[in-house]
Amino acid sequence: MQEKGLIIVLSGPAGSGKSTVRKLVDSAQHFDFSVSATTRELRPGEVDGVDYVKYSVEYFKKLIAEGNLLEYTEYCGNYYGTPKLPVFESIEKGNDIILEIEVEGAKQIKKNYPDAVLIMLLPPDFKTQESRLRGRGTETEDKIIKRLTRTAYELDDVQIYDYVIYNYDNGTQASAEDFLAIVRAEKCARRRLGNIKDNYYHNK
Ligand code: 5GP
Repeated sequence: MQEKGLIIVLSGPAGSGKSTVRKLVDSAQHFDFSVSATTRELRPGEVDGVDYVKYSVEYFKKLIAEGNLLEYTEYCGNYYGTPKLPVFESIEKGNDIILEIEVEGAKQIKKNYPDAVLIMLLPPDFKTQESRLRGRGTETEDKIIKRLTRTAYELDDVQIYDYVIYNYDNGTQASAEDFLAIVRAEKCARRRLGNIKDNYYHNK
């Protein structure tokens, strides 16, 4: 029998280093990545269909109404959501899929797919987050403030996560290793392995 793949939620506030950790993780081991739908304008360097799929607000609302999103949220004035079909296709094939989403979406995943693994990546502290965000230079001051403010709100819900990884300065490699270790341990989690005695004797 083909083991189902894992749904892995990776959340982290702006400046946590999610995309760098994600690249390192991907170069070490194959993962599928969910490509989110969004109404946010793409940033320079982002490719439509690869980093995000960009839709109008009207079309996004249609996706919601038709039940095509696994979860969705409004974040800092834009909609973001996970298209349902590709996630199911991945896990049915036995592939592990990473959903890089924020806390409201993670809550919906946890409620509807309790088998999902929820991982929160955090900068070591607020000061580090702020200086990383300003150093990035991709956002206006107004957006930086919005994202920093949002972090406090997100941390109120950190208890829904199964794991927390601190991404220290120059610590991205260690964070990626932590991520891979979590996935490896989850594969051995007894609760995922069904009726162990029955399988043992009947080789199902
Ligand atoms: P950004 O605009 O910086 O790319 O993303 C803003 C936030 O939205 C990030 O925390 C990112 O993880 C989250 N996000 C991206 N795609 C999705 C999604 O499909 N669903 C949810 N709930 N959050 C998302």
